[in-house]
Amino acid sequence: MSAAFDFDPQPRRASVAVDVGGVIVGGGAPVVVQSMTNTDTADIDGTVAQVAALHKAGSELVRITVDRDESAAAVPKIRDRLERLGLDVPLVGDFHYIGHKLLADHPACAEALAKYRINPGNVGFKDKKDKQFAEIVEMAIRYDKPVRIGVNWGSLDQELLTRLMDENQANGFPLTAQQVTRETIVQSALLSAELAEDIGLPRNRIILSAKVSGVQDLIAVYAMLSTRSDHALHLGLTEAGMGTKGIVASSASLGILMQQGIGDTIRISLTPEPGGDRTREVQVAQELLQVMGFRQFIPVVAACPGCGRTTSTVFQELAQKIQDDIRRNMPVWREKYPGVEGLKVAVMGCIVNGPGESKHADIGISLPGTGETPAAPVFIDGQKAMTLRGPNIAGDFETLVSDYIEK
Ligand code: SF4
Repeated sequence: MSAAFDFDPQPRRASVAVDVGGVIVGGGAPVVVQSMTNTDTADIDGTVAQVAALHKAGSELVRITVDRDESAAAVPKIRDRLERLGLDVPLVGDFHYIGHKLLADHPACAEALAKYRINPGNVGFKDKKDKQFAEIVEMAIRYDKPVRIGVNWGSLDQELLTRLMDENQANGFPLTAQQVTRETIVQSALLSAELAEDIGLPRNRIILSAKVSGVQDLIAVYAMLSTRSDHALHLGLTEAGMGTKGIVASSASLGILMQQGIGDTIRISLTPEPGGDRTREVQVAQELLQVMGFRQFIPVVAACPGCGRTTSTVFQELAQKIQDDIRRNMPVWREKYPGVEGLKVAVMGCIVNGPGESKHADIGISLPGTGETPAAPVFIDGQKAMTLRGPNIAGDFETLVSDYIEK
């Protein structure tokens, strides 16, 4: 057997499936894309608008902050408004510090949410910790909701960390400080899951996450978690950062984990530019899953980077226009043409790689590079179908792509 097979994606790690408001996470189900709002949840209009935008962009679950009475009171109203808009997206409540109290005081909120996120590092402190954790779990049992036990190293359980550091010292420091921290993160998630199960929450109501901001740390903690539990795993690099750094760091870490078969749902945590588009994180999550071959959401446009053989920007502009056309038409195409998500369109800048790449696509064009005959061969289903000439090659190819999809 060729060693090349060693580099193929590993089989998905076996995990217990969890039903989150009708969306299945784990158990071999396709990796779920989720996101989180950054509106004040008490601002019902703003939150409904952002949840709707995230869901329309492809977020299959949306998490909202539930941090005080006003936001807890808003949750059922947000749920109702979304239903009236025909948007059936499960809402996840993000609780810290007083989640037990908010859920107890706002039964309509507890009912409206599809999942509760518990942070074991701040659910309560000292003697109150287990009691308040138990109260949230009991609410989840009462309302038949799943929970995500979401550890974050920015709010790590300090008692557990101190205990494991003391143990490490007593044993002669077999672990580095970094290893103790990773072990604390993993144990915090596992011990909390064990406690939730002891209280009576079934395994198929528990999802785990263990978020850190370093790529190597994230890979390590999820690798540890994946071998020590069969709970469904929510992947995400926390505080990934802004712009390309956040995208690269998230893609590198989540990509490596998913290649190992680890991960049942992902969130890409990008810091948006002030006033920036929150849906970017959904687009990145979808593109990550699609380029890795795990899911298909939208036709892929393959385009070469261009080089000294292309002195005009015609092919970049055409690639951009095709991409924009696809994004604009996808809501309709998805309904009308099932399977359209899997198409590949190639827009290439010259004869060097143009025909070859175009043949690998469903439909592709090789534009003329500098000094080449001003003609653009078009390939459909791997065969040369025609050659476009004249001043409107770009427009003609756009029409061909639309026709191909429609036919
Ligand atoms: Fe350059 Fe042609 Fe390769 Fe595009 S296909 S990068 S234009 S050589």
